Amino acid sequence: MAEKNQDKGLTIVYTGNGKGKTTAALGICVRAAGYRKKIKILQFVKGSWKYGELEGIKLLKDFVDMEQVGEGFVGIVDDNKEFEVHQKAAREGLEHARQVIFSGEYDIVILDELNIAVDLGLVDADAVLELVKSKPEALHLVITGRNARPELIEIADLVTEMKEIKHPYQKGVLAQRAIDW
Ligand code: ATP
Ligand code: MG
Repeated sequence: MAEKNQDKGLTIVYTGNGKGKTTAALGICVRAAGYRKKIKILQFVKGSWKYGELEGIKLLKDFVDMEQVGEGFVGIVDDNKEFEVHQKAAREGLEHARQVIFSGEYDIVILDELNIAVDLGLVDADAVLELVKSKPEALHLVITGRNARPELIEIADLVTEMKEIKHPYQKGVLAQRAIDW
């Protein structure tokens, strides 16, 4: 059974309020690079990639590349016009994700913080579901971010909820180099 399904592409969701969602996705990159797999990471919310992963991925550049899509979200947007600008950019980002997914160039595609983009109303939840349902059979698709929609959880093959038990931030300990950034 396991042998028969060796090439089944999985839809993987890392969600929840605890730390480790993007870290887990980056862990897949390290493991998959060991098999010379090709991986694309698209980030939907600006500012959440850190120096460490940007530089670390450069060391794996033959296998992994990262790209920022859309304008992301730049904070609390109370200006409608600005929100629409972000919305348009995020939608274009999803279209770019579609091209990447169907390009045939990648074994694994990671849509980092896409759940956040959906949660903020920047990207249409149904458009994401449609994309996930139609992805190429062999492609592994990873979607991260808090507040994953129940409909996405329903159709995914692997869903892990990172649950905060303890975080140093609660004790006032600031983000640590190599762990947080
Ligand atoms: P990481 O990138 O460390 O795996 P994440 O992807 O699970 O975190 P995000 O929601 O993307 O979490 O959080 C972005 C930033 O907030 C990260 O730099 C992370 O260190 C920090 N963070 C994540 N979870 C928590 C938490 N429960 N309390 C405080 N800070 C957190
Ligand atoms: Mg993250």
